[in-house]
Parts: sequence; structure tokens; C-alpha cells
Amino acid sequence: MSEYQEKESVFNEKFESFKRLLSSSRKTAVFTGAGVSTLSGIPDFRGKHGVYNSPWKGLAVEEILSIDYFFENPEIFYAWAEEVWYHLEDYEPNIVHYTLAKMENMGLLSSGIFTQNIDFMHQRAGSRKVYELHGSAKAAYCTSCHAYYTYDQIAPVVRSHQVPYCKTCKSLIKPDIVFYGEALSADVLKRAEIAFSQADLTLILGSSLTVYPAAAFPQLTKYHGGKTVIVNAQPTDQDRDAELCFKDLEQFFSALNDHLDGKS
Ligand SMILES: [Zn+2]
Repeated sequence: MSEYQEKESVFNEKFESFKRLLSSSRKTAVFTGAGVSTLSGIPDFRGKHGVYNSPWKGLAVEEILSIDYFFENPEIFYAWAEEVWYHLEDYEPNIVHYTLAKMENMGLLSSGIFTQNIDFMHQRAGSRKVYELHGSAKAAYCTSCHAYYTYDQIAPVVRSHQVPYCKTCKSLIKPDIVFYGEALSADVLKRAEIAFSQADLTLILGSSLTVYPAAAFPQLTKYHGGKTVIVNAQPTDQDRDAELCFKDLEQFFSALNDHLDGKS
């Protein structure tokens, strides 16, 4: 049982309200943050309690993940990334990922999932409409000829402590992840703006909403007359604008999964 789990009577009453919001929503949009990945055991590299918050071999994560540093020291980035990002097959999607995939299959998630996680767990759980704001480790590209490489091609190279280079032109390969100093995809941002503006209901999951653009999503929904539900272990600055706040992702999604299966 998680330390964030709420008292059943308190939780059940709020969850009844949530069920009403969900059933009256024609357009539901979802944002997932680091908390959804940490539930699968994947460390949160930017978070306060993340294993990478402390410097790695004397380097700050912001430095290792900056685009200029990457081009100068690709071996440092890949040594760092090898520890988690290239061992993603060691982790499994959790009840949040699976329940969201079920919602999409049932037609309850028309606006799709926007995520800042790069671990493609949503796709592994069966979700199809997934928009990755920070990119994904699933794909990589040659920094010169832009040849495409898959995670399965890159991961064995990185795990054998090598830097991956392009088979064709021998240039450095970069994962399709947004580094510090790089712009987020304009296309994904535009989609997010439309989805969260049009949503009747926005679910914010496992995010403390401290960073742009995530922080803007619930505001867009509210501004356009929609409602927001936040599920996050720690309070966020936007809790008071939310219709409902829950603390425990596992508790919330167990109840939601049962509800979707017709058990509640
Ligand atoms: Zn190339």
C-alpha cells in the first residue's frame, strides 16, 4: 500500500464525482508526467527525489542533457543514458498505462495522451494516440544524414559501452529525445494546445505542473470552460483550480479500471 493512499470513504466520495465528470465529458485529454513512469520503477531523472538529481560523476543532469555538451561529449551522455534509458526492457507498463489504453479502446479518450516521458510505456500498453512532448528513446537519428535507427538497434551498442555511429556516413547518432537547448516539437505543441483547449475534461497524472508546457495545459482547459482532475502525490500550484484532486495513482487507477470493467 502506498503512503499516499487516501482513506476509502474520502476517496470513494470523490471518485463518484469523477465518474460523473467522465461520463459527461465528450472530449477527454490526458497529460502524464514522471510520476506515471516512476510507478513502473523508472527513475525520475529531473525530479527532486530522482536518482539523477545528485550529480553524476560530478556533472549536473542539465549539463549532460544539453545539446551542445552532447555533441562535444557523446560518450558521457551515452554512459549516463545507458544506466536507465537503454535498459527500458527491464521495466513494465503499470496499471495507469494499461487503464489509459483501455479507455482509448472504449472511445473515452478521444483527445489522446500527451506525455513528457520518453520510455514509450504507453505504446507498450496498447495506446495509439500518444504525443511525446520530450520525444522518445524508441527512435534515433543520424545527426548528418538523418538515417533512422530503432531503440533495438541502438540499445545493444550503448550497453556494450560504445557510442552509436551511423552505418552509412559514420556520423554521431542522437536519440529522438528533446535535449536542453532544443525546441519542443511545434507540431506536438500545437496538437496539445488544441486538445487541452477543447477538452471537457483534462486529467493531469503524476506531474507537479512546475514546468512549461505542462503547467499551461490545465489552464487552457479551464480558460475554455473545461474541468481538470489532478492525480499527483504532492500538491501542485494548480490544485485549487482543479475540480478534483487525488493523491495516489495506483488507488485512482485501480478504481477506474474496475469502473471501466463494470465493477463499480
Ligand atoms: Zn548518417
